[in-house]
Amino acid sequence: MESNPLRNSVIGSYPFPGWLELASENLDNFGVNDISEVQRDAVIAAVHDQLSAGLDVITDGEQTRFDFNLSFYGYIKGIELESASPRLFGPPAHDQRGKHAITGELHAPEGLGAVEEYQRLAEVYQAMHPGKQVTLKASVPGPYTMSGRLLPNEQYKDRWAITEALLPIVRKELEALVAAGCTEISVDEPSMSCYAYKEDPARFVDIFNRTVESIEGKARVCTHLCFGNFKARAVGPRQISPMFPAFLDFKCDEMHVEMASREFAELELIAEIAKHTDVAVGIVDVKSYYVETPDDIAGRVRRCLEYAPAEKLVFAPDCGLSQTARWAAKRKLVNMVAGVEIVKKELKLT
Ligand SMILES: [Zn+2]
Repeated sequence: MESNPLRNSVIGSYPFPGWLELASENLDNFGVNDISEVQRDAVIAAVHDQLSAGLDVITDGEQTRFDFNLSFYGYIKGIELESASPRLFGPPAHDQRGKHAITGELHAPEGLGAVEEYQRLAEVYQAMHPGKQVTLKASVPGPYTMSGRLLPNEQYKDRWAITEALLPIVRKELEALVAAGCTEISVDEPSMSCYAYKEDPARFVDIFNRTVESIEGKARVCTHLCFGNFKARAVGPRQISPMFPAFLDFKCDEMHVEMASREFAELELIAEIAKHTDVAVGIVDVKSYYVETPDDIAGRVRRCLEYAPAEKLVFAPDCGLSQTARWAAKRKLVNMVAGVEIVKKELKLT
């Protein structure tokens, strides 16, 4: 894969515009064609914000996954919509999201919808005639992460069994994305980083590598590891060391780690990652409403350069931006790109 020193990227999600949230709560009032229009308009908004920030890599902001039927789970046969949330009141946390019951054989005869998302993104991007060529990235949750919201049953006795059933479904989707012309795909496995401290990390590596084995060398394979961000709350101990050295065997071209919200603890570990693969550093805190200035970002980039060479470094927010208000998300991306640019100029990379 060609090198692009100090690349600016994003994780998949972007905040929904207010009107999209309102529409998603009232889908009964929309026809099928109206919903398609809503989806496309939302992608136009997300692409616009990302292009204006000046990123090197953009996504569709996962703007079309606003409803169960339009999410990955909606594409999987053999499950039924989550039961009511087990906790309706109190401060927000992941236990307010219900889990889906498995009712039959898990399969996805029409894929997981990521190919349509990628095609929609490509069409919207082309129609905007952007001045700068950027890479269009697709993001798909890996099978272990996806298994977390499915309840084991007689046929699929535990999370591992569900993961194994989902693995070939995800792999097929990745192959279809490559066939559709997608050149960069993130297989997100934040559940692996959240639970590496208590599970066998080598087992995670085996699952990840089998998921991506058929697209190796055919697209830039990225992965995103964080400590949880539902309602901007973490769920795992925010330590990277339990994942290593095992995770260095991930067969990927870019590994992303959450750093900004952890005030760059264990930053030295990016040196180890950079020996194996490009390392994407979470340099923007998606959980804080302090908007990093370009100078803050430049300082952080310089710290990263103490451990990893420019050609191996990618910068992105700590996680997807879906849990950050759009006004802040926009400003954070603009400042991220501006801050990285300061250092690029110092190093005469532009
Ligand atoms: Zn994340």
